[in-house]
Amino acid sequence: MNILLIGPQGSGKGTQARILCDKFGYFYFESGAYLRRIAADRPALKESLARGELVPDKEMTSYLEAFLDSKNLYDGIIFDGFPRTVAQYNFLKDWFSEKNVSLSLVINIEVSEKETIRRLSARREDPATGKIYNLITSPPPPGVDKSKLIQREDDKPEAIMERLRLYRERTAPLVELLRKETKVVDVDGERPIEVIAKDLADLVQNDIDIK
Ligand code: AMP
Repeated sequence: MNILLIGPQGSGKGTQARILCDKFGYFYFESGAYLRRIAADRPALKESLARGELVPDKEMTSYLEAFLDSKNLYDGIIFDGFPRTVAQYNFLKDWFSEKNVSLSLVINIEVSEKETIRRLSARREDPATGKIYNLITSPPPPGVDKSKLIQREDDKPEAIMERLRLYRERTAPLVELLRKETKVVDVDGERPIEVIAKDLADLVQNDIDIK
């Protein structure tokens, strides 16, 4: 049973996916983090991520396939950030059917563009630990030197606008297709983290119970 967590950047998918993985033991596949890791020795990929562009579908699906094959992992995965386009979803559907696994739940976390911009603009990374903070919703604890925190290139205003434009152009049509082909559960992502987490845990538990 695999789960897709979809929603625009800054919707809190990552936070919620981690909570679900801890609770239910799913494997967490976060496409953005994976790409940032492998971009360390791929300068062209690094630049394209910094500009907020999407990695071309063929390249993206081949990274995904290679990674999951290397782990021999096909089921019990929460996908965050993948698929982001109709072509990626079509790839995933074929791949699930080839591996004889199913897509059991699609959760769509909804937040307004205004809120997305507010959250992403306040996101900071600690380069020493790789930890991500949000100056508004999840500030660094005492002891972390705020002046050392950095803003990721793709969280700068121009890149945020490009990412939102791509979401509208490439991912919104995918959400509509998913609504036609499978059950998509919409969740209001502008509520407190714990309230959303409770809703999602209930959804996943319910999904496990009926299977
Ligand atoms: P994220 O952390 O999910 O916002 O992803 C960071 C960046 O990685 C995005 O702005 C894209 O450049 C790239 N990326 C992540 N997932 C995908 C995907 N499924 N397809 C293409 N590009 C992606």
